[in-house]
Amino acid sequence: MDDGFNQRGGWIEVITGGMFSGKSEELIRRIRRAEIGKQRTQLFKPIIDNRFDVKRIVSRDNRELDATAVVDSADLRSHLAFGVRVVGIDEAQFFDDLLIDVCMEMADAGIRVIAAGLDQDYLRRPFGPMPALLAVAEYVSKMHAVCVRCGGPAHYTQRIAGGNSQIEIGDNTYEARCRVCYEPYLASQPPRAQTNVEPATQTQASSPDSPEAEAQAAEAAGNLPSVQ
Ligand code: ZN
Repeated sequence: MDDGFNQRGGWIEVITGGMFSGKSEELIRRIRRAEIGKQRTQLFKPIIDNRFDVKRIVSRDNRELDATAVVDSADLRSHLAFGVRVVGIDEAQFFDDLLIDVCMEMADAGIRVIAAGLDQDYLRRPFGPMPALLAVAEYVSKMHAVCVRCGGPAHYTQRIAGGNSQIEIGDNTYEARCRVCYEPYLASQPPRAQTNVEPATQTQASSPDSPEAEAQAAEAAGNLPSVQ
């Protein structure tokens, strides 16, 4: 990557936060500003994200930019254009751990790297390469969505449907929640619980007099303290 930009100095910016917090909008805004500044830019996204157009990054407020869809970090590196000054990466949490090395290499070579991605998964666990990327970044922007329950700043991505795998694509599967309103999500308990949308609430409402009913309610709720 000997493109003569070393003397200018590059750096890494990370835009992170939960879903619906405006990460892609912010990424697009920064890339647009760089383009206005006549800087050569390139935008990448992982192929896993098929929510919108594969060759574009489309934010929820319908801003969009062309993007190169890549399968992994090595693929991203191989698609890097000569003379690029600013590289944007969307959905960075879906990349492999090599992303940190690739971003460092680009920044060391004088490129401004802007990576946007979820900091935590639906169980509030640090997501993919994001923790390490946050550590090595010069600049970090933590974005917040609006909690759908209380209207406060939302720090978490609450899963409300689907299975228990870390990656479940789809806006309808999640909503933004704050720390107070966040509830650990448990998918598909025994089949009897699946027929009911809110097993814990319903069972409690039907006055669990017997220990058996209480045990069932506890099981349906996954033995977690209920947050009402
Ligand atoms: Zn809340």
